[in-house]
Amino acid sequence: WTEGTVTDAENSLTELAALAETAGSQVLEGLIQRRTRPDPATYIGRGKVDDLGAVVLSTGADTVICDGELSPSQLRNLEQRTKVKVVDRTALILDIFAQHAKSKEGKAQVELAQLEYLLPRLRGWGETLSRQTGGSGRGGGAGGGVGVRGPGETKLETDRRRIRHRISRLRREIKSMKTVRVTKRARRSRNAVPAVAIAGYTNAGKSSLLNRLTGAGVLVENALFATLDPTTRKATASDGRLYTLSDTVGFVRHLPHQIVEAFRSTLEEVAEADLVVHVVDGTHPDPEEQVRAVHAVLAEVSADRLPELLVVNKTDAADEDTLLRLKRLWPDAIFVSAYSGRGMDELRAAIEERLPSPAVEVRAVLP
Ligand code: GDP
Repeated sequence: WTEGTVTDAENSLTELAALAETAGSQVLEGLIQRRTRPDPATYIGRGKVDDLGAVVLSTGADTVICDGELSPSQLRNLEQRTKVKVVDRTALILDIFAQHAKSKEGKAQVELAQLEYLLPRLRGWGETLSRQTGGSGRGGGAGGGVGVRGPGETKLETDRRRIRHRISRLRREIKSMKTVRVTKRARRSRNAVPAVAIAGYTNAGKSSLLNRLTGAGVLVENALFATLDPTTRKATASDGRLYTLSDTVGFVRHLPHQIVEAFRSTLEEVAEADLVVHVVDGTHPDPEEQVRAVHAVLAEVSADRLPELLVVNKTDAADEDTLLRLKRLWPDAIFVSAYSGRGMDELRAAIEERLPSPAVEVRAVLP
């Protein structure tokens, strides 16, 4: 089902396929449904469910991934009709975040987001969850899948209670981890080292640019969400001034609100920066849409008022017409290629020009 044009739907579906591959799936086929609004029972509507069932049969698919957020009952209905597992965009993104989180805080944040997503959907997922959490000697699967009455009800209640318990524990843990980070940050601002945050849509080339700018060995992956935990590196300006460069978490359209919530504290670090270097993928079919999506997330954490330097990356692979169009659209943007190194000197100079001047730093540390 799509709200916008077919092209929007196709772009969104291409991205969904890339997301699914990042999560380790093999994508077999895509289906687009045009409707004025989602069907309350099945999201895609009765006729399309039959089409979907046929595609599942002919391709032998074991999972259906839906580009949107399904209500718990839509998800259940679709699973009953297609007889395979159904996953929505939110669950898929949560899954990828879970695979890629590296720091203790990142892992706790993703788990919290997953549990909050799971809680209202527990009715259909009760059995799965019990198996995942190791049950508690309750002979997994006994008691049968369908009903939620009798012993099932009790089990469901136990699962819910356990999840709520875990959620409050995770919240407490995340809160204390955040305190440590805030202290670190405060120390940094006492030192008055200017901070530059590299933001941008997933896969735009943030990690690659960070590597180019600082020579640091940050993991670069052709996968969405390679960057989950912020990486901070020191860089030296041509006049000897030190500044820090941080890579921020990947942004993606329709980021599930659980994720925005979960990563709010990480994203809030962006709001503390002196400059946002906003990286745009020059080879993407719709770079403006990406820029809008990033601005929406930045606005969520009040980082939209910061000075911003727009950087169009991948000029080595982008087509000339697109680049000309983007140059007209964003006359102040810097055009670079993290691959060939083109435009890097210009980028460094543009960053340095926008850093707070040393005079400001001195004033900041005087009593
Ligand atoms: P991030 O998710 O924004 O941090 O993006 P990465 O730095 O991980 O890069 C995502 C993908 O784009 C990787 O496959 C990179 O190799 C590729 N990439 C990054 N910069 C360039 C570039 O200048 N040109 C081309 N052609 N590809 C690039």
